[in-house]
Amino acid sequence: MSDEPSPSKDDTEFATRAIHAGQHPDPETGAVMTPIYASSTFAQDGPGEHRGYEYSRTGNPTRTALEDNLASLEGGEYGRAFASGMAAINTVLNLLEAGDHVVVGEDVYGGTHRLFTEVYEDYDLRFSFVDTTDPDAVAGAVTPATELLWIETPTNPLLQVIDLDAMAEVAEAADALLAVDNTFATPALQRPLEHGADIVAHSLTKYLGGHSDVVGGALITDDPELDERLGFYQNSVGATPDPFACFLVLRGTKTLPVRMERHSENARTLAAWLEDHPAIERVYYPGLESHPQHELAARQMDAFGGMVSFELDGSLEATERLVSSTEVFTLAESLGGVESLLEQPATMTHAAVPREQRLDAGVTDGLVRVSVGLEAIEDLRADLAGAIDAALDR
Ligand SMILES: *Cc1c(COP(=O)(O)O)cnc(C)c1O
Repeated sequence: MSDEPSPSKDDTEFATRAIHAGQHPDPETGAVMTPIYASSTFAQDGPGEHRGYEYSRTGNPTRTALEDNLASLEGGEYGRAFASGMAAINTVLNLLEAGDHVVVGEDVYGGTHRLFTEVYEDYDLRFSFVDTTDPDAVAGAVTPATELLWIETPTNPLLQVIDLDAMAEVAEAADALLAVDNTFATPALQRPLEHGADIVAHSLTKYLGGHSDVVGGALITDDPELDERLGFYQNSVGATPDPFACFLVLRGTKTLPVRMERHSENARTLAAWLEDHPAIERVYYPGLESHPQHELAARQMDAFGGMVSFELDGSLEATERLVSSTEVFTLAESLGGVESLLEQPATMTHAAVPREQRLDAGVTDGLVRVSVGLEAIEDLRADLAGAIDAALDR
């Protein structure tokens, strides 16, 4: 099983690969779904003579199916799955050495910010957080020690869209790796390797899993040497996912294209409605013509995704009332599941970012981030309308 190549990126269309890439009916039983290989170890025919698997931290057939599936969806050759998105991101930093410098988008995921500044600064890695919508600012932050450029697009929570082609140029000129966290867009909407990224990172916990029932991460690359190094750290550090987690994500990726289409449609409708709402100061959604990088988004993405952020024209307390008053939307961190969630970044996902830095990056106290699910749009709209009224006591 492990030595059967996954269908190449040119074989079939995305929706077909989402269902089939990396997966084959079980040769013994004909099982259509990849079994959950709940085995920590594998019998050897002779010492060191095995059939592709020795020990499940190093490799597991359910994990291989997922890794090949994800690689195919990103249009890459190699996939590596991890126990969480953070474990995947951590593995990219394992490639660096003390004294190396990293240029990072200023509104990256809060956990990424924490890992970089509160863990790896102690190991003498240096980080510069910059406005990645401005390629000159990114190029200006590069030093002779820069080895990595870390980008998210769309960003979290302000949904800024970063020009991947421009970032690849900066990275190439700096002789640094370009890593793109593609969690928000997913490969259904955007494939960073096509734009020159070296590594694509994912939290599988979000849209790829898609049902808020599993935590996982992944790295995808086209470069065999890079993949080998990532595989070395994957096995040496050991933050690998168990086969059941891999099975759940594989189940999720089958419906990814259909889900992303509806997430995007619902989000676009909701964003347009919010934009016209008198109590809403500002809406951040790349699909709106008012979005500063709307044209870039239309060029770089196949649709605009399911994440919307907006600013209530009201106080911190009013915003807290808003996020506490919904009935269809659940107040929770995370995103990307079939159900709609909302949260207040200032007090929740971005609480780990120092207040000054958070405000500088535009993450205000009144900001609300919404993960638009697959419920009926009428119910989602009515729910938010009620919560806005409740927040402003109207
Ligand atoms: C959730 C998330 C992560 C971290 O992933 P976990 O699976 O929670 O460890 C990283 N990046 C982005 C953009 C995320 O949304």
